[in-house]
Amino acid sequence: MPAKKGSETAAAAKPDSKARIAAKPNGKVPKSNGRGRTPPAKVATRPTEKLAEGLAREIEREVIEQGWPVGTVLGSETELLDRFSVSRAVLREAIRLLEHHGVAGMRRGPGGGLILTEPNDQAVVRSVTLLLEYEHVTSAQLFEARMAIELNAVELASERITEPGIAALREALEVELEAADQLGPLPDPSLDRIHELIAEATGNPAMRLFVAVLGQLTSLHAMPSYRTGSARELRRQALGAHTAHEAIVEAVVAGDSALARHRMLRHLQAIAPWVAAGPGAPAPAARRGRRTTSD
Ligand SMILES: [Zn+2]
Repeated sequence: MPAKKGSETAAAAKPDSKARIAAKPNGKVPKSNGRGRTPPAKVATRPTEKLAEGLAREIEREVIEQGWPVGTVLGSETELLDRFSVSRAVLREAIRLLEHHGVAGMRRGPGGGLILTEPNDQAVVRSVTLLLEYEHVTSAQLFEARMAIELNAVELASERITEPGIAALREALEVELEAADQLGPLPDPSLDRIHELIAEATGNPAMRLFVAVLGQLTSLHAMPSYRTGSARELRRQALGAHTAHEAIVEAVVAGDSALARHRMLRHLQAIAPWVAAGPGAPAPAARRGRRTTSD
């Protein structure tokens, strides 16, 4: 007699707190609403939302296990209702979550159903950027993270750079030089593109994602400096960054990882104080050295 298995089923059958915990990891969705299951001290979540979240997670896990075959139809609404034994409301909410996460979308008509999609990279970067702004990430923390990731990224890029990677870096240098000539009142994304391309050259998608997020955050934190800086100062800043980028790319292309790292360090150290005039900075003390009257 398998005694352990018996106790597992017994626990799952009880509609108490243990059963709630047991239901979570495999995304199994108990049908009863279980009156006593309201999570304490949190915003009251409706049972449908909770179940839908579990179902969405289960489907996501399956998609990942299958290697994310974009374009595959997971099933029609009727098929999915049947397969997961949930209410229509729960399924629709789960589909809404999957759409929101960029995992799948509902396609109507013949041959339609829940179809696997490619996640939207820009939307993800935007979401993480906004989350960190919501958490009041400071400019100092931003550059702490940039140092941790980008110094390693530039070293790896120097070791792993390919011909297409070199071409992309050179093209980005040209584009940013043009952008420096037509600076508007907002930070131009092309001025930070080189950092993302260097991270991309590592071949590590996690590094590329985090560098993209940190780049967007840097642009946001630089906004006040953009607003208050004179056209001349902005141009000088952009050209200074461009010169630093050129030197970094040169070292990466030469495969000199130590030099590339050193130049990236100097570059980040140079732009950090300028960006740090943004939100979350201990403004008065940090800006004391920068005399706007001399402009
Ligand atoms: Zn830069």
